[in-house]
Amino acid sequence: MCPGCYKMNVDGYCVQCRKKLFEGAKVSPLLGFDAPAVDNLAEYQQRTKRLSISGVQLKYSLRLEDKELKLVETGGQYIIKPIPPGTLLQHPAIAPENEHLTMQIAEQVFGIKTAANALIYFKDGVPSYITRRFDVKPNGKKYLQEDMAQLSGRNKHTAKPGEDFKYDGTYEEIGALIKRYVAAYPPALEQLFKLVLFNYIFSNGDAHLKNFSLIETVMGDYTLSPAYDLMCTLLHIPNESDLALDLYHGCYNSKFYGSYGYFGQSDFRIFADKLGIQPIRVQRLLTQMLSGRKTVFTMIGNSFLPDDQKQAYLDKYEERLRRLGMTEQMIAAVIDPEHPGVYAPTGKPVILTFMNRPVVAGFFVSTPDSEKLKQENKYTFVTAANARQYQKTRDNSLLTIIDADELINAAFTEDY
Ligand SMILES: [Zn+2]
Repeated sequence: MCPGCYKMNVDGYCVQCRKKLFEGAKVSPLLGFDAPAVDNLAEYQQRTKRLSISGVQLKYSLRLEDKELKLVETGGQYIIKPIPPGTLLQHPAIAPENEHLTMQIAEQVFGIKTAANALIYFKDGVPSYITRRFDVKPNGKKYLQEDMAQLSGRNKHTAKPGEDFKYDGTYEEIGALIKRYVAAYPPALEQLFKLVLFNYIFSNGDAHLKNFSLIETVMGDYTLSPAYDLMCTLLHIPNESDLALDLYHGCYNSKFYGSYGYFGQSDFRIFADKLGIQPIRVQRLLTQMLSGRKTVFTMIGNSFLPDDQKQAYLDKYEERLRRLGMTEQMIAAVIDPEHPGVYAPTGKPVILTFMNRPVVAGFFVSTPDSEKLKQENKYTFVTAANARQYQKTRDNSLLTIIDADELINAAFTEDY
């Protein structure tokens, strides 16, 4: 299996990965040297208010010379992140594969532009994560790059005592910086929205200001850089926060958060609205990010994680999907995959499963209110028990309103 993209039946890196990572050179997944020795462990274990995986991980620079990767002090084209030292993290040994898997899912399943990456092995067989620096031009010069901490003027001098400036701010603020500095900002804002939602879905609680950057393009203007440092940090830090930054100022006062104590789909719709993304686009992006479950399962299954960690990764993913409910397109696909529509007539009742409420069986029925309710991801519905009477009387008091933000599953069953 290719240690870059998990393609089966290839020896070493596949042709596509070689192109992306090494300009086509046939580089071995086995490095010619052992993992660098760590002699200053204490330095990596200094406790700050917030344990961050990025503060624990070590990074080394590599250069490609005659098909061989060599450790260098300056002029690196690649970064490797070995297994992090120390004892603060749980399961540190899986960190390289966690990051590799998460980056591959982002790109392969959700079409998020990511820094080229793979798994690579030291001479002694110990795995490491490797990524190609996207700020290095083929001639060795660099594209200008600024992260969101720099762009917002935050640094250690502006931080409050005991706090880390990179966790200060909101994702909405990153959107404002994109609008200010990126000429073609609408696609960049959608990219930001997808990435923030991806981080929530895959339990990456460490997507702080320095993990978003603007980078110079070949045209000389600026764009949002490819995604980097994506991983399920919750696997390593059990009390990890759900998000490294607030979605927007006041996000914890939302109705959904007030009811459940975590963010749901409506919170991401509010966030998207604050970014200025059109509701129809938001619908499409939400559907895309909340679907793809089967492909994600397959990729986790194919990964190099040990079985128990595959299960843990999957459980955390499922838990986040559960929090985010369903979209109109997702319900419609269940009801009538051939002619999708929530209000498509069905012979059998649809069984709905909710977050905190009992299961309901019945039929979606369109009423004059339906169009307006749809804007809030709510749908008019008649339970199986009321269906016959409703058919006769069209009495609206027999109807229920379904909030798809709270919907975990919709299905037909043969038992009914
Ligand atoms: Zn590959």
